[in-house]
Amino acid sequence: MSRVYNFSAGPSMMPEAVLKKAAAEMLDYQGSGQSVMEMSHRSKVFQSILDETIALVKEVLNVPDNYKILFLQGGGSTQFSMVPLNLMNKNNKADYIVTGNWANIAYQEACRYGKVRLLATSEDKNYSYIPKIKPEDIDPEADYVYYCMNNTIYGTMFKYIPETGSVPLVSDISSCICSEPIDISKFGLVYAGVQKNMGPAGATLVIVREDLLGNAMDFTPLMFDYKLHADKGTMYNTPPCYAIYVCKLMLEWIKNDIGGLEKMKERNEKKAAVLYDFLDSSSLFKGTVVKEDRSLMNIPFVTGDKELDALFVKEAEERGFVNLKGHRSTGGMRVSTYNAMPIEGVEKLVAFMKEFEEAHS
Ligand SMILES: *Cc1c(COP(=O)(O)O)cnc(C)c1O
Repeated sequence: MSRVYNFSAGPSMMPEAVLKKAAAEMLDYQGSGQSVMEMSHRSKVFQSILDETIALVKEVLNVPDNYKILFLQGGGSTQFSMVPLNLMNKNNKADYIVTGNWANIAYQEACRYGKVRLLATSEDKNYSYIPKIKPEDIDPEADYVYYCMNNTIYGTMFKYIPETGSVPLVSDISSCICSEPIDISKFGLVYAGVQKNMGPAGATLVIVREDLLGNAMDFTPLMFDYKLHADKGTMYNTPPCYAIYVCKLMLEWIKNDIGGLEKMKERNEKKAAVLYDFLDSSSLFKGTVVKEDRSLMNIPFVTGDKELDALFVKEAEERGFVNLKGHRSTGGMRVSTYNAMPIEGVEKLVAFMKEFEEAHS
């Protein structure tokens, strides 16, 4: 068996230790005589998996006691609607910061439900930088301020948390969750589709401050009401059981094998530096993002020649470096260096990039 280095933006690589544990427990989960896939979600054994997963989220992400931890379905995208439906109902106003495609879709969707202000955007420079938001920029009457912490497609990342005073802050952390510590206490709500950095596709993690619950718009669909899910211990209906279980394995790996999020951050910084240092010295490949806003997780770059980009992607694939093609809105290449990507994967890729550069200079 040979495994490729998968640089996909998501779903993405999982640690081998996690896959092996899932395989070992596939037919008989811890003496239960069944797979987690087969269990009733109302069984004691599944309840204990869910409880342990939530306890691990709380511990690994350092979630304060006054927050609810929910595992929902519908991906990150469903949150584009759930956030306004649940939170934009005091003054029916919200401030949005648009730094890429995902934030833009969230903004467009929120506009359907209230008075939404475009607080800032980096569209003027093809989303290649992060705007600086000052406290006085915030509408004090906004029900919340929304932003996307890591821009998966454009490869930029907020390195600061906007100061919003008493206005709750909401963030899409789909592509940076568990990549480094985040001060959850600064947020009203954060959410992430787990398939980029925390598990397989199928579950969405929502962490929401309790005082924000119970204020959904009257016409909010039942399944879109955070309070209902929170009141039922995130088991109002059948949760994504197997995806939750694999999240548990991922969180155990982060906690026990890596040593927590501070260590994870060090590891991710080292890994990204291997590629960024090369890009800064390369005569062929160029990063597309301003230096100070570079993402740790998604690294886009170009050669400046579309045919050469395509050739690079093709030859890289033949060497076992897969999913390097950039998003259709940016072109070029994109390397995603999520948690499970080992540093050797990036080192070997850079060695190949050097080879390619020499062959085409
Ligand atoms: C991938 C992604 C999404 C969309 O997630 P789905 O689970 O496919 O709906 C939303 N936001 C960000 C930042 C993403 O990277």
